[in-house]
Amino acid sequence: MNNQNHNKKDGLSRRQMLKLLGASALTYGLLGASTKAFSNTAPHIVIVGGGIGGAAAAKYLRLLNAEVKITVIEPNSQYIFCPGSNEVIPGWVTLEDLMVTYTTLKTRYKVNVIHDKATTIDYDKKQVKLEKGDVLSYHKLIVSPGPTHGYHAIEGFSKELADGDFPAAYDAGRQTMNLRNQILAMKKGGTVIIAPPENDYRCPPAPYERASFVAAMLKENNPTGKILILDAKDEFVLSNNYIPYWEKTFGYGTDNSMIEWVQKKKGGEVVKLDASNHAVVTADGQTHKGDVINIIPPEAAGQFALKNDLADDRWCPVEFQDFSSTRHKDVYVIGDSVDGSPMPKTGYIASNQARVVVQAINDELHGREVGTPFIVNDCVAMAGHDYGMALSTTFRYAGKGERLKDLYYVQGLETNPAKQLIRQQVAENWQRTFRKDIFE
Ligand SMILES: Cc1cc2nc3c(=O)[nH]c(=O)nc-3n(C[C@H](O)[C@H](O)[C@H](O)COP(=O)(O)OP(=O)(O)OC[C@H]3O[C@@H](n4cnc5c(N)ncnc54)[C@H](O)[C@@H]3O)c2cc1C
Repeated sequence: MNNQNHNKKDGLSRRQMLKLLGASALTYGLLGASTKAFSNTAPHIVIVGGGIGGAAAAKYLRLLNAEVKITVIEPNSQYIFCPGSNEVIPGWVTLEDLMVTYTTLKTRYKVNVIHDKATTIDYDKKQVKLEKGDVLSYHKLIVSPGPTHGYHAIEGFSKELADGDFPAAYDAGRQTMNLRNQILAMKKGGTVIIAPPENDYRCPPAPYERASFVAAMLKENNPTGKILILDAKDEFVLSNNYIPYWEKTFGYGTDNSMIEWVQKKKGGEVVKLDASNHAVVTADGQTHKGDVINIIPPEAAGQFALKNDLADDRWCPVEFQDFSSTRHKDVYVIGDSVDGSPMPKTGYIASNQARVVVQAINDELHGREVGTPFIVNDCVAMAGHDYGMALSTTFRYAGKGERLKDLYYVQGLETNPAKQLIRQQVAENWQRTFRKDIFE
C-alpha cells in the first residue's frame, strides 16, 4: 500500500509539467487536438472501463486539456446504457435505443480506445497489463470497472444460470432480453419473482421500477399473473411514490394485488436458488416457486479493482477531494466500485465523480491547488408510462478522510396526473440527454 503525495509529480518536475502544459496548451482548443499528434512526453492518463464513469472521464478530461494523451481500455466495442434498460422489458424501448459506440470519443475527442481487458497493475512501474499482452505506462490511472455481481452469494446461483434460465438483467444486454421473453411466454396466472439485493448496489430504485413495468406488462398480456418481490431489505428508496402508485394501479395491499412485496424482516431475503425446481428459498426456510425468477445478486467492486488491491473488503476507499485511491498512489477510482456512501451508485454520480477526478488531475498537472468537490445526483425513475419521479441530492466535501456530507431532496407524492406525466417525460428526456452527454 502506497501513501498519497499529490505534490510529487513522478517523473515530470513541476517546471517540466508547466512547460508542457503552458500557455499554448491552455489556449489550445479541441480543434488543435484533432490536428496534432500527442508528444511522447505528454502525460498519459489511462482509464480502465469505458462505461459511464470511464467514458465521462475521457471526454471531460479532453474538454479541459488538449495536450494529455488519454487511453480508455474497454473490452466491448459497444456500450449499452443501464439507465432506460428496465423499459426494454415491457418493450417500450429496444436495446438498440440504448446502445452507443466509441466513435465520437475516438474521432472528436482524440481518445485512444483499446478494446481489450485490463488485468494487472504494476504500481511500482506505473503500468497496466492487458489480456492480449500489451503493457501501458500511465502517469495517472482512473479505474471505473463497474460492479462485480455476486452470483455465488446466493447458494445454487451462478453467472452461467443468469446467462441461461435465471436472468439477473442488472447489466443491460442479453439477460435483459431473456427476462422480457420469459415474462411474455409465462403461463397465464404465473408468478414472476423479483429478488432485490441488500444495500449497496447500483441504482437503488431500479428493482422497484422493474416490478412496476412488469406489472404493466402483465396487466396487458396476463392479467392474472403475479409479481412477488422477495427483498433482502426492509425499506426501499422512493417507496413513498411506488407504493401509492401500486395501490392505485395494481390493487396493492388488497387480496387481488398484482404485486406483493415481502420485506427482509417478514422473510423476504432469498438465500438459495433451487434451479431444478424453479424455486427460491428464503432465510427463514420458506420455498417459493416462480415461473420467472429474477434474482439481482449482491454487488461488490469490479473484479479488476478487487484483484488489484484497490478494495478494502467489498468497495474501494478513496479520498473524496479527488477520488484518489487511499491504497495506491496516482490511481483514482470512480463509479459503482467506490466506497462512496452516502452517495448512491448511479450513472449520474459516476459522471460527476469523473468531473471531479479530471478537474483534480488537470489542476495538478498545471501546478494548481486541487479544489473541493461538490457532487450532484439527479436520479430519475418511473413507475409507468404515466408516472415519473426524481430524487435529487447534493454532496459536499467535508474534509480530508471524511465522507461527503449529503443534502437530500426526495420528491413527495404527486397526485395530479398531469404533473405525474410531466415528471415521466422529464425522466425519459433525462435518459436521452444523459446518453448524449457521456458519449457525444
Ligand atoms: C436497471 C438499471 C437502471 C439504471 N438506471 C439508472 C438511472 O436511471 N440513472 C442513473 O444515473 N443510473 C442508473 N443505473 C446505474 C448506472 O448504470 C451505473 O451506476 C453506472 O453504469 C456506473 O458506471 P461505472 O462506470 O461504474 O460502470 P459501468 O457503466 O458498468 O462501466 C463499467 C465498464 O468497465 C468495463 N470493464 C470491466 N472490467 C474491465 C477490465 N478489467 N478492463 C477494461 N474494462 C473493464 C465494462 O466492460 C464496462 O463497460 C441503472 C442501473 C441499472 C442496472
